[in-house]
Amino acid sequence: MVVGFSLFTEKQPRSSQHVASRPFGSIQKKNTKELASYWRTAIKALQLCGQEKQTDISWHCTHLHEDGFQGKHMNESHDITRFSSINKGPHLLVLGSIHGNEICGKIAIQRAIELFRRGKWKLKAGTVTFLPVANPLAHKRDIRFVDVNLNRVIKEHKNPKRYEEFLANTIVRLIKECDWLLDIHSFHTRGAPAVFRDFNDKRTKAFCQCFEVECIITGWIQMYEALGKKNVNAGDTVSFAHQHKKPGVVIECGQHSDPKNTKVALTAIENALAHLNLIEGTSKRRKPAKKQGAVRGYKIVLKQKEGELTKIWKNLDKIRAGEVIAVYKDGSCERAPRDGHIILPKPWAKTGEEWFYFGVPELSKP
Ligand SMILES: [Zn+2]
Repeated sequence: MVVGFSLFTEKQPRSSQHVASRPFGSIQKKNTKELASYWRTAIKALQLCGQEKQTDISWHCTHLHEDGFQGKHMNESHDITRFSSINKGPHLLVLGSIHGNEICGKIAIQRAIELFRRGKWKLKAGTVTFLPVANPLAHKRDIRFVDVNLNRVIKEHKNPKRYEEFLANTIVRLIKECDWLLDIHSFHTRGAPAVFRDFNDKRTKAFCQCFEVECIITGWIQMYEALGKKNVNAGDTVSFAHQHKKPGVVIECGQHSDPKNTKVALTAIENALAHLNLIEGTSKRRKPAKKQGAVRGYKIVLKQKEGELTKIWKNLDKIRAGEVIAVYKDGSCERAPRDGHIILPKPWAKTGEEWFYFGVPELSKP
């Protein structure tokens, strides 16, 4: 494992001065625990050196899979960047590319790191940890995952065998270290960005409302339970964080290939940092969507046989009760059960897979 440190000071009034453009320290460490203690010592040392104006430290950790994995994926490593203020505050973890073909999170995170390094964003308290590419090999191959959906295996794996299980072991450690989680995704077809609120505790609710997206989607887990599937989200990042009492949110920023989704993702990072009072100038930055509404997942429509969607539906398109959404080859069809919205349509779904979801305004009757 190779670790590099870059230091930033605030000797210049308007921007942080980059003291070391190259990592000045490089160490070989056997495990994360040792590494974390090294990192804490480094911060302490800076404080003792009288760097009282220094506001943040970035910690790059590019490491190979430290669990002794010697397989073909050896060269695909996580690259983690952490900024930390000497002032106490919450710790936000931001994840990108949990699914390898979803790149907006990665690009937005890289921009956020640059903004911190150039002094455009200044950390006034707490810590933010960035993992731009959570699934490096899938990202390199432009696929969703290599062996298994990473967002279904987020737990500790004592004997990891599949590629994503090795990745999960690093990610769970990062989640355990943080206080809040933002997990950035994108989706198949065009349509409006949305935040998913899977849990209804006060802190998660308030967190969801800080984002400048017009829609919060709720009831996802319950919708699957109604289909007879228990624990559908077990193994995802937000559920793991929730188990450890850390509020977390997934944001779906738009279509995979839409360049606008990067802006949505970067704004989401800024919203989250401002919500937690981690960056300066929060009053200007915090502009939650004026007409933020919530859509509750109502029904999952599985593709039962060969057929097609009736048009290129976009995420959160409005639908009237009885409207035909999809037609099967044998002439039968899927209609909207009531007035509502189509959620995450997947035109190329295979038979048996989720074709689209149907949602209703959250405050409407069950
Ligand atoms: Zn995704």
